Amino acid sequence: MPPSGLIPVAEALDNLFALVDPVDVEWVPLDKAAGRVLAEPVVARRDQPPFPASSMDGYALKGVEAMRDAQFRVIGESAAGQRFDGRVGAGQCVRIFTGAPVPEGADHVMIQEDVHRDGALISLLEDAGDKSNIRPAGTDFRAGTTIDPPRRLGPSDVALLAAMNIAEVPVRRKPRIALMSTGDELVMPGDTPGPDQIIVSNTFGLKAMLEAAGASVRVLPIARDTKASLITAFSLAEGADMVVTIGGASVGDHDLVAGVTADLGMDRSFYKVAMRPGKPLMGGRIGSAAMVGLPGNPVSALVCGEVFLRPMLNKMLGLGAVPTPRREAVLSQSLEPNGPREHYMRAVVGPDGIHAFDRQDSSLLTVLTIANALLIRPPHDPAREIGDTVPYLPL
Ligand code: AMP
Ligand code: MG
Repeated sequence: MPPSGLIPVAEALDNLFALVDPVDVEWVPLDKAAGRVLAEPVVARRDQPPFPASSMDGYALKGVEAMRDAQFRVIGESAAGQRFDGRVGAGQCVRIFTGAPVPEGADHVMIQEDVHRDGALISLLEDAGDKSNIRPAGTDFRAGTTIDPPRRLGPSDVALLAAMNIAEVPVRRKPRIALMSTGDELVMPGDTPGPDQIIVSNTFGLKAMLEAAGASVRVLPIARDTKASLITAFSLAEGADMVVTIGGASVGDHDLVAGVTADLGMDRSFYKVAMRPGKPLMGGRIGSAAMVGLPGNPVSALVCGEVFLRPMLNKMLGLGAVPTPRREAVLSQSLEPNGPREHYMRAVVGPDGIHAFDRQDSSLLTVLTIANALLIRPPHDPAREIGDTVPYLPL
């Protein structure tokens, strides 16, 4: 059982999934489709190749006639984009290049390296091999071949869509996420901080994470630790599918997010999760927007981004309600028993296995930066030995 009042990570994520739905579909030009998530099936409009095509530079002729020392008369040329219109008869051949249509009557391309040419005559230096050097029409795909959603489109998908003659692609629109840092101590990078101030970092890290994952991110002005300032910042989040606050989520005198969101009519689905870092996480709905309140410590905010925001965003993109997939690695160190909260330890995974850093304080961005994994300790996980297999999230 988690400590009283705290819900398990998986339950928190289920609550958060319930707050979001796939966003609508928009059509984007193909050159803007990379990285977007396909929302509807697309259907190839043609065969590729649309005609039997030569895969080599050489001479198109009849394979049965192609024996060493046989001679052929060159009757024309077929180039990529410009076919030879006639027919290849007995004893004839057509000069042909890669990608060019194979003329009627021919069923074999002798590669030019195996041919001796003398004016309009060629003689073969070899027998025809087993390979015809011809790509039949539709070898790559046929008209009617579909690419099915959901699918995050990578470079090869975009190339395939292009080859299918798809100029506009139906994708999920980018979910709109508004990020709000809160705290009297925060100033923007480039500003001159007062003696008791620090530079806001979480909004930048989360913006980078969420934009790379397919969101359109708006950064709201930093909200001060007053009700009025928080309410103003929330009013600027109008139109967002999801509002994420950072900081002010605990129970200190200056932690006002829970109170203000309640005043704004937030339908809160949970508050506080049995995890480390990230305990004071809250989720709910304000109006039509999902609202997630993240803790302020930089590592907590970014870990919660990986564990909660990224999967929520994926659901909004139509990729299903799936937790970030875990991997497994073998421990290269021993670990003490874990406490009652699921611990996401900053770690390095490499050829020798996985090990966690000694310094796990949730304010240490320098440690997060050199980590490439979050080693996951389930609640009450017993002590672990070198060689034990443990789960982790890759970073
Ligand atoms: P809070 O949750 O507001 O109590 O903040 C916890 C810690 O995180 C404090 O040390 C804050 O100064 C720090 N913090 C809060 N928000 C941010 C932010 N956006 N960027 C960097 N540090 C922050
Ligand atoms: Mg604060």
